[in-house]
Amino acid sequence: MTQVESKFRATSSEEARKDVLRKVEQENVQFALLWFTDLEGHLKSFAITPGELEGALNDGMGFDGSSITGFNAIEESDMVAIPDPGTFQLMPWKEGETKVARMICDVVTPDGEPYDGDPRYVLRLALERMQSMGFDTFNIGPELEYFLFKANDGTETLDEGGYFAMTTLDAATELRQETIHALESMGILVEYAHHEVGPSQHEIDIQFAPALEMADHTLTYRLIVKEIAAKNGVYATFMPKPLFGENGSGMHTHQSLFSDGRNAFFDESDKWHLSETGKAFIAGQLRHAREISAVFAQWVNSYKRLVPGYEAPVYVAWSQRNRSALIRIPLYKPGSEQATRAEIRCPDPACNPYLTFACLLHAGLEGIERGYELPDPMETNLYHLTPEQRRERGITALPETLGEAIDELAGSELARKALGPHIFDRYVEIKRKEWDEYRVQLSEWELRRYLPTL
Ligand code: GLU
Ligand code: MG
Repeated sequence: MTQVESKFRATSSEEARKDVLRKVEQENVQFALLWFTDLEGHLKSFAITPGELEGALNDGMGFDGSSITGFNAIEESDMVAIPDPGTFQLMPWKEGETKVARMICDVVTPDGEPYDGDPRYVLRLALERMQSMGFDTFNIGPELEYFLFKANDGTETLDEGGYFAMTTLDAATELRQETIHALESMGILVEYAHHEVGPSQHEIDIQFAPALEMADHTLTYRLIVKEIAAKNGVYATFMPKPLFGENGSGMHTHQSLFSDGRNAFFDESDKWHLSETGKAFIAGQLRHAREISAVFAQWVNSYKRLVPGYEAPVYVAWSQRNRSALIRIPLYKPGSEQATRAEIRCPDPACNPYLTFACLLHAGLEGIERGYELPDPMETNLYHLTPEQRRERGITALPETLGEAIDELAGSELARKALGPHIFDRYVEIKRKEWDEYRVQLSEWELRRYLPTL
């Protein structure tokens, strides 16, 4: 821990802070974990004792930002993490175990100003833009898929089960149930869970929540899934495409905007039951998808998933039925006005959820602000169209590699606005480095293919 001046920096109400202290005492919590993420969404955590908690809530806890990917350089490295009392949760706990609570932090400078490099702040700013445009809530429901392997140094699967496979094939049913209990104990409500299409691939869908809360939930979800797997002697991974020739893991993200308790995407009289707002929002995400792809699909490996044939989107189009489209509008059923939503299918579960939700929101808001027109839906299977047919219909594709995605991002005004200049520059730099490191690698495939004949 670095020393920063002790100074009042709290961003929450006194009542909320007192409430946390009360709960810690009542529950006899022995440690509090304070969490935040680096630019790539890796969870960073440090533990404090209850005695330090009041100071942490009031003044924050200093840490060395230069050791966090994408944060400040050495010469401006002192950073402060301030726990958000609204995120206080007990970690799953069994009789006889140490009781641990966690809170998610905002990162500020020693002066108490929000830190431009904090992904949570980027999402807060996106939500401010939304509010200034007359909406009060951005609701998000992500579907995070993951694989279970026997260990973290190989891809040996636990079963050969497929979509919705039942118990005999699905060795991990109990593990999934334990995970669901753990998630629910932390206030993350589960809607349904099932085996996914790939062998040893799973999905637990959680109930929608406002974007900031959901980004916090996403971190928690990933940690819980991994921890429960580890406790049971297996390894859970959110790597987008761990198995060649099988489906990858996506994070289809259901989104809607609300104002005054009403779903702003719904319009009774429209043939798709979509309001002008809903259409412009979708048009915005379609138009800017290539530019923000390096954020929702941030790894070299992400682009191995975004290929035809594995239920992941490749082409920039929308549809009501078609799962090969980038955005799908689930069919309207009478009575489900409030559930009208746009499901964007390109993000993967290894993204930074704060930056991803912020970029998705900005892209949608851009569409609303500028009145973008929604193209016609594409109901045919887009994987089956020839390049000429796609050209005729004006359908573009997502970037094919991280390198292409970074070039798009680097030239994007929208991404710069969404991420802010500080994160934008660092993100481009970090990701370009990743791509440069990858592109000089020699693969087994190349040696097999070329060495015998060239
Ligand atoms: N695993 C697929 C993907 O990569 C999605 C399968 C599904 O439709 O849930 O997006
Ligand atoms: Mg799925």
